[in-house]
Amino acid sequence: ESTVTDIRDSIGAIRDYPKPGIIFRDITPLLQDPDAFRSAIKLLKQRYSQLGITQIAAIEARGFIFGSALAYAMGCGVTLLRKPGKLPGKVVSQSYQLEYGSDQLEMHENALTMNDRVLIVDDLLATGGTVIAANQLITSLGADVIEAAFVVSLPELGGEDKLQQAGVACYTLCQF
Ligand code: IMP
Repeated sequence: ESTVTDIRDSIGAIRDYPKPGIIFRDITPLLQDPDAFRSAIKLLKQRYSQLGITQIAAIEARGFIFGSALAYAMGCGVTLLRKPGKLPGKVVSQSYQLEYGSDQLEMHENALTMNDRVLIVDDLLATGGTVIAANQLITSLGADVIEAAFVVSLPELGGEDKLQQAGVACYTLCQF
């Protein structure tokens, strides 16, 4: 079984990706380490399994991996928040500023109701723009966002502060 320190140590650092001067935190070695991956999901499950979460809102693409593993472990559903044009049904969409540009998230307009208690899951929190957009979409459908959970956060980029200002609770397994 891996500790949070082991989980943190399993995350790679790629210099100058996707732009010069940026250190990209790479979760692919974590996924390839069975103990680290399973322990990460187990720690998140311990935090959330008693909170009546009905749906995990997983953010494309790496959020799908952690979000669906956690949903399977917790016995709740997975709601997909996707990049534009990927979902087949009627969608609600929200654009947002990204660390490296701007982007948009979409979800099916009938995906959630006011009875849902939702946990947002993504691999990494940077500036917080992505999760703020996710929170806006989910709350626009009347559902409650209980918390946003990440494997990694980069506190220097201000995401934790931005989420706090927006009234969204957040939790991260490790920081860089
Ligand atoms: P934010 O919107 O600035 O918080 O950026 C978070 C989003 O960008 C997440 O969906 C991450 O997957 C992705 N992201 C930003 N920086 C990194 C990184 O260093 N490693 C992996 N993903 C990143």
